[in-house]
Amino acid sequence: MSTPAKAAPVSRSGVLGGPASVVESACPLDCPDACSLNVTVQHGKIVEIDGSEKNPVTDGFICAKVRKFGERVYGPDRILHPGVRKGPKGQGQFTRITWDEALQLVADRFTKAKAEFGAASILPFSYGGSNGLLTQDNLDATLWRRFGTSRLARTVCAAPTGAANMALYGKMPSVTYQDYPEAKLLVLWGVNPSTSGIHLVPYIREAQKRGATLVVVDPRSTQLARSADLHLAVKPGTDVVVALALHRYLFANGHADEAFLREHTTGWEQLRERAEPWTIERAAHTAGVDAAALERFAALYATSSPALVRCGWGLERNRNGGNAAMAVMALPAVGGKFGVRGGGYSMSNSASWSIDRPWIAAPEPDTRIVNMNHLGRALTEYTDPPVRVLFVYNCNPAATMPDQNRVLRGLERSDLFTIVFEQVMTDTALYADLVLPNTTFLEGYDFAKAYGPINIDMVRPVVDAVGEARSNADVFGELCSRLDLSKPGEPTGELDLLVNVLERLPGSIGADLAAGATPAPAFGPTPIQFVDVLPNTSDQKVHLFDEALDKTAPLGLYAFQPDPATDRFPLTLISPSSERTISSTLGELPRTDAKLLMHPDDAGARGLAEGDLVRVFNDLGEVHCPVQIFPTIRPGTISLPKGLWRRNMRNSSTATALAPDTLSDLGAGACFNDARVQVASLAIA
Ligand code: SF4
Repeated sequence: MSTPAKAAPVSRSGVLGGPASVVESACPLDCPDACSLNVTVQHGKIVEIDGSEKNPVTDGFICAKVRKFGERVYGPDRILHPGVRKGPKGQGQFTRITWDEALQLVADRFTKAKAEFGAASILPFSYGGSNGLLTQDNLDATLWRRFGTSRLARTVCAAPTGAANMALYGKMPSVTYQDYPEAKLLVLWGVNPSTSGIHLVPYIREAQKRGATLVVVDPRSTQLARSADLHLAVKPGTDVVVALALHRYLFANGHADEAFLREHTTGWEQLRERAEPWTIERAAHTAGVDAAALERFAALYATSSPALVRCGWGLERNRNGGNAAMAVMALPAVGGKFGVRGGGYSMSNSASWSIDRPWIAAPEPDTRIVNMNHLGRALTEYTDPPVRVLFVYNCNPAATMPDQNRVLRGLERSDLFTIVFEQVMTDTALYADLVLPNTTFLEGYDFAKAYGPINIDMVRPVVDAVGEARSNADVFGELCSRLDLSKPGEPTGELDLLVNVLERLPGSIGADLAAGATPAPAFGPTPIQFVDVLPNTSDQKVHLFDEALDKTAPLGLYAFQPDPATDRFPLTLISPSSERTISSTLGELPRTDAKLLMHPDDAGARGLAEGDLVRVFNDLGEVHCPVQIFPTIRPGTISLPKGLWRRNMRNSSTATALAPDTLSDLGAGACFNDARVQVASLAIA
């Protein structure tokens, strides 16, 4: 297969005061939508980024974040050339070196660490800076596997929901945005599409226009919650008992679809047994919601069809997150909600293309696995072997991993050699011993795979690489060569890799993409669950009770672990996505003071007024910021935005400084929302 040509620019002469071209591309950032883009380029520079009509689901509009992506490409934080540290760690002072010197330094450090401590003393660290098929789990994975480094469990997001979805349904394709308007009942559970999947919002609004009932389960009153027919502001960490109460209601009131359960599921008797203790009253008391409202929710779910549950990622970020996801996603099986357009469940569709990355040219070795949520521990406590080389890419762990202060203590270690391959000077790059400049998605090829809609598109370079930035493919290919890990005929650079991936994508996906067409999966872009698609489990049934997971979870499947709040730290801190940040990408752009959202009762009890500077603290750390009195968050719960960089905060600590590095019940995921804290005025500190 030959290399696809750059998209032919469409002339927009004169529009912006000179000859301009509009180049088609797509967005591969970690977001469910994978927008198609029109990027206007003038005199070789990006002057405008907008949505294109090519992808009918993303429909010509994009988020405000990516609209500003040019500010990253040409901004003052851009890393323009390789550099070695010349000042103390954390200061971000570097001496320029050549790429040849930089890559040889990496190869030498790898070789030295392997000789002295074994290859597992090298920890590659990456997550979601791009979801592109070329920039993550490609030549990088081949390099790590062949060299025998430690393996990274990428669990900071989607691990509990992924474990639940896999156990129940083998990650069956789920209801896509286009079918939301068909639903008569829509349940948004732990998800806020207004910030983290904006193209879903018009479909929800269309469903409402057609008369659908909207239920939102979320500790905060989001924009969609305010327009919902029912909003259950549950205590963080209690979603599992709310869902179990619904199951109990379905079974107890003759609304469980017994014919479906017998034919298409296993383990429903055990689920019924585990749900039995959770009466509406008990669950409502535990979750801190009104029992009548919860009963209304149960009755609505029992009697509506098509009924669609959108399971989000907010409900997974606590000790009960995996069981919550299990109980929520099991609802349509028990309630008999499958088999109709607009009915069933909606979760990540990332597995819908069945792309198992055959281009990773090496088997996975049996080396040490490091859970990324334990980065701080790995850097400060692991001895067998110690982490001596840390290679960070597609990720900003100094800002995003739990227990931030422990992570920073680790990064300060004098005997740790940290390599950061990045686009801009992140909080983590400031601690690097070696920085390597990385291209953005506007400077190279890639593939953008949506995980809300089922869509895949090609990302094309719209401008030349800025400074000396290089792509992941080029750098990891070169490192494979320098470490004698390449095999004859294997791809070594971005264009080679592009062709390799196009040839290995399943079915006609590669041929369609190379021809500029939009691929569609065999079951179509809008599958009906249990009509067009069945569970990808061994027997194509829903496994409502997985014995192995039952043994893995601390208290078993569908169990509830109580609130970790104490008298000293009685408040629950959550850190959801904001309009500005789904992840930490673009956290370098200027922003106003991040504010702590707090209910008036909690503020009053502490003598706080709007705009007061406060310290939010627990035994792990302390965050300083102004308070915003927010009547529509539930009392006892406070909120800081996810994805902030340290520079956004008054004392250089983000919400992650308060997050424990404990793990969720299933999937070993992050427990950001298990942060329990106290708040006090800074004025009296
Ligand atoms: S981040 Fe999401 S909404 Fe924004 S441009 Fe990319 S895909 Fe579209």
